Amino acid sequence: MGLRMACIFPPVTGLGRSAINKSPGRFAENARTGPQRDLTNQRDFAKLNRYSWFSVLKEGLTGHKGWPRAWRDPEPKPAYDAIVVGGGGHGLSTAYYLARNHGMRNIAVLEKGYLGGGNVGRNTTIVRSNYMLPYSTQFYEFSLKLWENLSHELNYNVMFSQRGQIGLFHSPTARDAAARRANTMRLNDIEAELLSREQLMTMIPHLDYSAGARFPIMGGILQRRAGTARHDAVAWGYARAADRLGVDLIQNCEVTGILRQGNRVTGVETTRGTILAPKVGLAVAGNTTRLTDMAGLGRMPIESHKLQAFVSEPLKPLLDYVVAFALPGGHFYISQSDKGGMVFGGDLDMYNSYAQKGNLPVVEDVAGCAMALMPCLGRVRLLRHWSGVMDMSMDGSHIISKTAVEGLYLNTGWCYGGFKATPASGWCFASTMAKDEPHELTAAFSLDRFERGLAIDEKGQGPTPNLH
Ligand code: FAD
Repeated sequence: MGLRMACIFPPVTGLGRSAINKSPGRFAENARTGPQRDLTNQRDFAKLNRYSWFSVLKEGLTGHKGWPRAWRDPEPKPAYDAIVVGGGGHGLSTAYYLARNHGMRNIAVLEKGYLGGGNVGRNTTIVRSNYMLPYSTQFYEFSLKLWENLSHELNYNVMFSQRGQIGLFHSPTARDAAARRANTMRLNDIEAELLSREQLMTMIPHLDYSAGARFPIMGGILQRRAGTARHDAVAWGYARAADRLGVDLIQNCEVTGILRQGNRVTGVETTRGTILAPKVGLAVAGNTTRLTDMAGLGRMPIESHKLQAFVSEPLKPLLDYVVAFALPGGHFYISQSDKGGMVFGGDLDMYNSYAQKGNLPVVEDVAGCAMALMPCLGRVRLLRHWSGVMDMSMDGSHIISKTAVEGLYLNTGWCYGGFKATPASGWCFASTMAKDEPHELTAAFSLDRFERGLAIDEKGQGPTPNLH
């Protein structure tokens, strides 16, 4: 096996982490400065009531009574220059980059519940850029670069932890596929390493390497710069930063209708009244088809499915990496949170639903996978489990796009993987909304790719949304 691996995957010599960070990248915009970072933005940032070691020290010594609220709670205005529907990660980051990169200030985010109450606060927090297809590779690598500076950018600790993500393989065919992926990533200036079973046994001794293992482990593919972030901190960080740039964040404001004049959007009906805007962006994840129905966009290439996640009681440090495997008969991913809980998940519930709650067969399936991978978890108690509503697309890739209605923009189709895309999604969707044209990184992810037969099917599953 060692020899065969050496043939298909030469030893890692060139692209370590530092090489990647120094690499100019193939995408022109700079993830740290952005296309239009100007003095106006600098002045706005200076106005922020910045979190700093000094403020933490001061508040620590004075009983934490002086912290201002993180964002305002404004009444909706009758009209805005742009409205973003959905106060999840993608809606909030879009509003932030509309203000930060494009100088738009008269913007509202409309959220039917509370900010971060959707998938952004329900996911298993894995961030990586180990994709294979050209468009996805560039997009997710750009996102990872944004993650690497996000806490500084937002002046908010999103607890981004680059602990490394390992995808296990269990057969020679899967090993070849992993090698192909790793080689493709390296050709795109993204670091990747193929690990042997022996290396894994040293790095993660608690996995089941026994002769009778249900899924015998042959090795893994590692991306060291991948990791996890604190999911709700990401929502709160973007919310606070957008608010400081003048964006109105309006909670408990459900959009119930999309207003059109002919083929042009003019605003939205909400539970808090009519709000007008010449530009409306939808970033509502699993509720996409409800909103596109309101706009009369017709049938969408999206199905809503539920996905559950689980967290155990806190344990002492047990797992230093994010570990995942996917094969017929088992799908599982696990990491350990900073509080010590084992955070894990598996497959979808496999039927269409808008409900944010899951069912017991998946609990059993995921628990079975956990036991197959890490038998030592057998006596650990489960603390909580919950579900989110996924926007599963027909090819497993996202949609960031103009629509047939002028001024109406769509951000959806994130399937299992939209958390890691949060920064780049907001960046590119903001650009699409501001300039009324696709962003270079997401031009291929248009809605009409399905009509034109240009699917971006990373997994090669075909038009079967629940399998992506
Ligand atoms: P959301 O947070 O769901 O935001 C959409 C918002 O729109 C919601 O707050 C909702 O209330 C609001 N809304 C809906 N309808 C209306 C309306 N009519 N009016 C106003 N507001 C409305 N991705 C990863 O990259 N890594 C992972 O490890 C990962 N694990 C996951 C595990 C689980 C259990 C789940 C559920 C998802 C996971 N994901 C993961 C996927 C990721 O969380 C989502 O793809 C991403 O969060 C979706 O974008 P969002 O944050 O904008 O969605």
